[in-house]
Amino acid sequence: MSKQFLWKVKESSKVKLKDYSPEYRDDHIERDVAEEQLQKLSKELGELQELMTAAQKNSLLMILQGMDTSGKDGTIRHVLSAVNPQGCTVHSFKEPSLEELQHDFLWRIHQHTPPLGVFGVFNRSHYEDVLVVRVHNLVPEKKWQKRYQSINAFEELLADSGTIILKFFLHISKDEQAKRLRAREDEPEKSWKLNVGDWKERAYWDDYQEAYEDALSKCSTESAPWYIVPANHKWYRNMAIAQTLVETMQQYKDEWRKDLLARGEKELVALKQIHAEQSYESKIRK
Ligand code: AMP
Ligand code: MG
Repeated sequence: MSKQFLWKVKESSKVKLKDYSPEYRDDHIERDVAEEQLQKLSKELGELQELMTAAQKNSLLMILQGMDTSGKDGTIRHVLSAVNPQGCTVHSFKEPSLEELQHDFLWRIHQHTPPLGVFGVFNRSHYEDVLVVRVHNLVPEKKWQKRYQSINAFEELLADSGTIILKFFLHISKDEQAKRLRAREDEPEKSWKLNVGDWKERAYWDDYQEAYEDALSKCSTESAPWYIVPANHKWYRNMAIAQTLVETMQQYKDEWRKDLLARGEKELVALKQIHAEQSYESKIRK
């Protein structure tokens, strides 16, 4: 396996976000090289998606989480540029509706998990139920504490049903967030993203970091790993995520190909039989 540009969280490890620099980038990767690399990886991702769609054996679920301005939308736009929209679903999870609140917290999530063959993206996810909900005491601690276990069981169910799960935490620094929020105020073309709520949430930065540390520590498993993405440099973030997606999907490539070939051969045998029958019938009719 080639070099990893981000950090995969080991199962049952205790994550301290201070140990991971949001500024990190591999010394050997310059911006122009990374952008070129992203083009290649995007193309490969498109080809792998096509194979996955045809094989109908797996689906892929990419979960994006991160503080406001961490780049969830930008990642979707840049990393999935060559993915066929026909085989892709993107769902953004906002504050739950009254109806959603009247169900268990995974009810609204389960409806949007990708079916076999589909590349699904979650922009925020069920993790909000142990992040914003925890930080703002939206439910009692006793309730959110149990959710980590429910999340692990839920993701195991998805994985057992053929879903390849990758979870990316876009790790930015508090200074970088301030820079990005200010840019929205200063640059008219970014002003549509302005949201006073973002400045208010920023006051809870440390609580969020702690909540993220717990989610990353308790919910990274072999079948649904968390990746910490150094995300202060957008170009580096995009390349690192694209590379991880491609490497993960490549592990299934041979299996998908083999299945497709076997399916093709089966169809060919059936076709030959039909041709033989048709030519026999036309002979006896003569
Ligand atoms: P944005 O991603 O900027 O469109 O914002 C969506 C907002 O919805 C964020 O402030 C999230 O914290 C909030 N949100 C998402 N899921 C939940 C949830 N389960 N409970 C409460 N708020 C949520
Ligand atoms: Mg926002």
